[in-house]
Amino acid sequence: MASAPTTIIDLARLSLSHGEGARLDLPVRLEPLELGGQTYAPRGGELRARLDVSRPSSGYAFRLRFPLRVEGPCMRCLGDAAVETEIDAREVDQSDTEDEELRSPYVVDDELDLGRWARDASILALPTQILCREDCAGLCPVCGASLNDADPDLHEHSSAGDPRWAKLDELKSE
Ligand SMILES: [Zn+2]
Ligand SMILES: [Zn+2]
Repeated sequence: MASAPTTIIDLARLSLSHGEGARLDLPVRLEPLELGGQTYAPRGGELRARLDVSRPSSGYAFRLRFPLRVEGPCMRCLGDAAVETEIDAREVDQSDTEDEELRSPYVVDDELDLGRWARDASILALPTQILCREDCAGLCPVCGASLNDADPDLHEHSSAGDPRWAKLDELKSE
């Protein structure tokens, strides 16, 4: 039976000596990501991650890898969209330093917050525009229909000759 999704790793329980390392393959629960006002989530809310933990002279070094596929609405036409990418992130945490650069924000009291790290790494890796396809034509600004299904050149509302639309265009361009 599969083990339950993890978000917190108790580093002390790995009982690694200096110079030792461990590799963990584990399911991680990923909360839905809010991007551009839309919600994106991996199927089942879960992903399979590989975590490498090593102990250099002091503290810990981590490498987190997982394939990410999230699904949600296209930011242009609101149709179905999905993005696939590979996450490969690293963190170090030196316990005996005042240097903030060498402390990991995901390590507190010998616990690694894998869920939060996976979430942040996912957001960083995803494009700012999530589209159903690269050249998504978006929605018609007049009637809201998807222009992917219609030829944008043929999809017209004979607005050109209508003075009310011309007035609106003037207002918009101001
Ligand atoms: Zn689209
Ligand atoms: Zn239209």
